[in-house]
This record gives sequence, C-alpha cells and structure tokens, in this order.
Amino acid sequence: MAAELLIIGGGLAGCEAALRAAGAGVSVRLVDMKPARFSPAHASPLLGELVCSNSLRSADPASAVGLLKAEMAVLGSHFIEAARASAVPAGKALAVDRERFAARLDNAVSSHALISREAGRVEELPASGVSIVATGPLTDGPLAENIAKLAGGGSLHFYDAIAPIVMTDSVDMSRAFWQDRYAEPGVGDYLNCPLSREEFSAFYQALTTGEQVPLHDFESPRFFEGCLPIEVMAARGEKTLLFGPMKPVGLEDPRSGRRPFAVVQLRKEDLGGRLMNLVGFQTKLTHAAQLQAFRLIPALAGAEFARLGSIHRNSFLDAPRALTPQLALRAAPQVFIAGQLSGVEGYVESAASGLLCGLNAARLLSGEPLLTPPPTTALGGLITHLMNQEAKSFQPSNINFGLLPPLAQRLPKKERGRALARRAFGDLLAWMAAQGLKPAEAPPLLA
Ligand SMILES: Cc1cc2nc3c(=O)[nH]c(=O)nc-3n(C[C@H](O)[C@H](O)[C@H](O)COP(=O)(O)OP(=O)(O)OC[C@H]3O[C@@H](n4cnc5c(N)ncnc54)[C@H](O)[C@@H]3O)c2cc1C
Repeated sequence: MAAELLIIGGGLAGCEAALRAAGAGVSVRLVDMKPARFSPAHASPLLGELVCSNSLRSADPASAVGLLKAEMAVLGSHFIEAARASAVPAGKALAVDRERFAARLDNAVSSHALISREAGRVEELPASGVSIVATGPLTDGPLAENIAKLAGGGSLHFYDAIAPIVMTDSVDMSRAFWQDRYAEPGVGDYLNCPLSREEFSAFYQALTTGEQVPLHDFESPRFFEGCLPIEVMAARGEKTLLFGPMKPVGLEDPRSGRRPFAVVQLRKEDLGGRLMNLVGFQTKLTHAAQLQAFRLIPALAGAEFARLGSIHRNSFLDAPRALTPQLALRAAPQVFIAGQLSGVEGYVESAASGLLCGLNAARLLSGEPLLTPPPTTALGGLITHLMNQEAKSFQPSNINFGLLPPLAQRLPKKERGRALARRAFGDLLAWMAAQGLKPAEAPPLLA
C-alpha cells in the first residue's frame, strides 16, 4: 500500500501521531534519524524515548496534567497505554520504567501493519503530500530552519537542563529515609537526603560558585521557568531552594524525629529501583562542579552517579503566528507540527499534541473537517495557549488550569480541580459524540 502520511520524528509526539493515524486506517511512513544519529539528549535506539525525568507528573485527574492524561486515555492514547504498562511506584505521580515504556511504544509502531519505519535524517520538508513534523526541541540539521522559513518567521530557542541520576545502592542509607510528603514516616516512594543548616549552607555555596558549562549559542540563555537549573534557582536566594526543590515540609527524619532543615529527594528511575534521579536538580554546572556540590549532601557523599546533569538547546515555533488551531502550518496547511516544536512543553503535552495531529492528518487525508477540542478540556487549553496572539514573545507552556476558562462560580482550590475536570470530561464526551469519535474508555470517576 502506498504511504499516505509522512511523519518525521519518532519521539513521544511522533509515535502517538503515527499510531493514531494508522488506527484510523491511514498508511504511515515514519522516519527518525535514530539509531544512525542521536541528538545530544537521546541515547536509546528505541523510539518513544524519555530524555530526562521518568515522571509523567501527577496521576490525579483533578490536576491539570492528570486531567490531560485522562482525556488522552479517553481518546485512545498509546502513550498512556505504554505508561500504564510500565509504571513504577511514585506516590501520587505517574512515573515509568523508561526502557519498558520506550520498548512498548517502539514495538507498537514497528509491529503495526500500516506503519513503515525508516532510519534517516530528514533535512527538508517534501514539496507535496500530508506530513507531520515531530522532531522535537532538538530538531537536527537544517530542518528546523527550513520549517521556520516556511512558517514565515524565525525559529526560537531557549535552554533546558537535565538532572543527575545515582545508583540506589551507593546512597548512604544511614543518612537517608523513605517517605512521601505528609505520609507516615518510612512510608513512600521518595528517598529523602536530609541536610542540616550548616550542611545546606556549604551545599548552597558550592552550587552558587560552581563553574558552569559555557553556552556557545549566539543568543543569551533563556530557561523555561518550570525546569530551571538548580544553580539558577539558587542564585535567586537560599529561600528559593528551601521553598522549592529542597523544601522539607511534610517530612520527618527518623533519626531526630523532626523535620529536616532541607532535603534532596530522590525518585526511582526504573522498576527495579536500581537508579534514582535527584528531583528538581537539573543543572548546567560542569561535571566536576556537580560532583563537588552533590558530594556535600551527606547521603550522597560516596554515591555513584549513573549520569550527571547537562544542558541543551530547545527549539520551538512562534505558534500563535505560525500554526492553525488544528496544529497545521498556516503557510502550508498540509504540514502539521506536533510535540515540543509546536510550542507545547513537557512529555505529556508533546504526546497530546501528537494525538491531535495524528487525528487531524488522517481526517485531512479522508476529506473530513479538521478538529480542535473544546477549550474547556485540557487538550483544548493547550491549543488556547498556542493561539494566544497577545503573547508578543511566545513561550511554551505546560498544561495548567490557568489555560482553561474559569468556572462560573468561585470554588475553594481543593474543589476547583474536580469541578474543572468534571466539566472537561462532560464537554469532551459531548464533542467526541458530535464528531463520531468513540471513547476508548470512560473518564475516571471524580469523588
Ligand atoms: C534536555 C531535555 C530535557 C527534558 N526534560 C523533560 C522532563 O524531564 N520532563 C518533561 O515533561 N519534558 C522534558 N523535556 C521537554 C519535552 O517534553 C521532551 O523534549 C519531549 O521528548 C518532546 O517530545 P517530542 O516528541 O516533541 O520530541 P522528541 O521526543 O525529542 O522526539 C523527536 C524525535 O525526532 C528525531 N529527529 C530529530 N531531528 C530529526 C531529523 N532532522 N530527521 C529525522 N529525525 C529527527 C529524534 O531522533 C527524536 O527521536 C526535555 C527536553 C529536553 C531537550
């Protein structure tokens, strides 16, 4: 069968888009440069690779990202299916064993009768035919500039940093304790490394004076606020850390029976729990400076690091001016842009935009009208952000409830999430019914 839809990039968005379009009966040609070539953040030959944290954030459907995941499940997301099948314990978050997760997505794509997979770097968009570009924030080669030119504007860049990972059996357990925030002491999936006031001071000093990797790009560095390097946060003052990633609230050190002055939390990276990442410790310090600083955390004094943190460029389009609400290029409506390159931020958001692109590309090929989900849904809220013409300098965003229209009545914060989710599920199901889309599962019940 002749390929009808070209998908460039088989990351989170590309896999989701391919499986969605193929599920609608479209034959897909998916091209990814792996394993011949890897971006600075990719290392696995598998498609669907998570490049940094293994967390897909909150599992609570009454949180914005939990709602987005629940909506994706209703829409039949393969990303969510793979995540559920490879979940590791992570308190109230959905975290995955990254190898199993990618293997599951890779296998779903590779074994699909309607998807043909090719290895190769794409340098230019084809002149004709329907395509989805899902090459991510580290789009390789001249393709990003090619798309930016086609979109009629310059591409934008900012920077992302990734967090270090330690071998669990190298953590000094006499100086660490298991506990989720506000859980009983000893109960939980997070391994806490406490610091006294003096230990924190020494660590803070090392963070703020450590040598940083110089940036070679012509632009001054701009970081995504939700994923700031730890030393950038530290430079804003001690309290930014003590009220941020190192906050000790809801924790009790069993050695003292008291709340520690500060903590570094470790979260499992794999199902076996052999690897743990330092939550919120993405960094652009040099490797030597990282080792110097992290060894000042008493529980990590002798720890073996499986990976140290690093920093990377991140590309995205000026979405409000470049894209339609169905995620096609205004200047080339047969080209859809999925994933981080479209201006969404985060794993779940990237996959969600892939789902929408897969759906719409299949509809374009079958002559059906293209779709945009209701703005009251989390998926619709993402599109609202991408279409925000008021943003003079567009910045990507994670999903958050601020992107959804407010409720008619003011509610306390605790009830607001549930009310927004109830409204979103109702509107999603009504919209799907109107478009002839069958729910893959019922939305979760909200107490
Ligand atoms: C360093 C870094 C850390 C991040 N950490 C997190 C995090 O912890 N949590 C989070 O939620 N989000 C994180 N993000 C943001 C974002 O969620 C991820 O980048 C996510 O993987 C984006 O999904 P995607 O499908 O758009 O791109 P990707 O998953 O990056 O997939 C792009 C694919 O396209 C291929 N490709 C690239 N160029 C070409 C080309 N020219 N031709 C053919 N193939 C090509 C690549 O090989 C890759 O497989 C991070 C981003 C970066 C850069």
